Amino acid sequence: MNLAAVRRRIGAVPRRFREVRMFAKAMRSARHPILAQIIPTRRCNLACGYCNEYDHVSQPVPVEEMLRRIDRLAALGTSIVTISGGEPLLHPELDLIVSRIRRHKMIATLITNGYLLNAKRIQQLNRAGLHQLQISIDNVMPDEISKKSLKVLDQRLRWLAEYAEFDVNINAVVGSGIERAEDALVIARRALALGFGITTGVVHDGCGQLRALSEHERWVLDEITRLRKPLFSFFRYNRFQENLVRGIPNDWKCHAGSRFLYICENGLVHWCSQQRGYPGIPLEKYSTADLEREYHTVKSCAPLCTINCVHQTALLDEIREHPRETIVQLLSPGQQPLSPAELPASVRVLTWLFVTNSKSGWFSKAALRLLGLD
Ligand code: SF4
Ligand code: SF4
Repeated sequence: MNLAAVRRRIGAVPRRFREVRMFAKAMRSARHPILAQIIPTRRCNLACGYCNEYDHVSQPVPVEEMLRRIDRLAALGTSIVTISGGEPLLHPELDLIVSRIRRHKMIATLITNGYLLNAKRIQQLNRAGLHQLQISIDNVMPDEISKKSLKVLDQRLRWLAEYAEFDVNINAVVGSGIERAEDALVIARRALALGFGITTGVVHDGCGQLRALSEHERWVLDEITRLRKPLFSFFRYNRFQENLVRGIPNDWKCHAGSRFLYICENGLVHWCSQQRGYPGIPLEKYSTADLEREYHTVKSCAPLCTINCVHQTALLDEIREHPRETIVQLLSPGQQPLSPAELPASVRVLTWLFVTNSKSGWFSKAALRLLGLD
């Protein structure tokens, strides 16, 4: 194992600590954003056929302005800031932006197409304090839809394995426009061989909505799920994704604009990358009243939404608001919920903690005090 890999393993301890802190804070209250996605440049060096989030002309947002926006997100109590684009590595002061996020004790993550990574760039991100980097890879060989290909990116992945001291996650993409669904399986196996995490993404249409997956695409997703080693073996069911790949609408409350914020290059807050313009308020004027209103605003696009990170923030709120039902649902492998007797004892204890916490907040208060956040 090389030195960076050893450091990555040692550094995993404080990273998990930060994640537990984020979770405990989310359990304590709904009055802050869990995750904000921020755009330092709309420009991208690629032109994927399914993407509506880039151009080839925009200038990077001046770094002073980016730092002001990070400070504002910290003042709103944000836990995680994800830097996205366009291609964020095109921003010349990206490291300063990451450092500023870390200075506020927020978690800094980056979504990149990986083309501009090299050993020096990765080491700069180490020094800045990056928590996690994610690359979505669409296919094994480039085609006219996407050049985010394993063949092109494999050397960058090897550099990441050699130099990165942060978590690396590879998102293997399946869905409309991706010609060979089985490529996702090759990509997932390669990511695991290099010691990275894997997730699967279902490609959405131009409005963030699902297009039904074929039988073969669903088989590929199932195979990748089997490759994963979940933290708890009983925690094996992603009901959101399962419903979506079967074309079944999800019954959930989207809290975009409150628990999830999308900050565009112009500094406006939107629900998400696919619903820009709502509410479209400048970040510097965004207030707790806006967070409160958007928490309760019903989004008609929710049933077929594929925006996974917003689903995940909503899941934390479901655990906080309805702990027993949500945990049982998450653990049940089929559509029928497990009976209490079928749940492992450890899960019953966990459920009891969350149920009592949802009434008085004692558990998350104690956890936050222990983690030095209260
Ligand atoms: S690399 Fe990302 S931002 Fe750039 S065109 Fe492709 S999907 Fe869009
Ligand atoms: S449901 Fe929420 S996250 Fe999904 S597209 Fe609509 S606003 Fe965006």
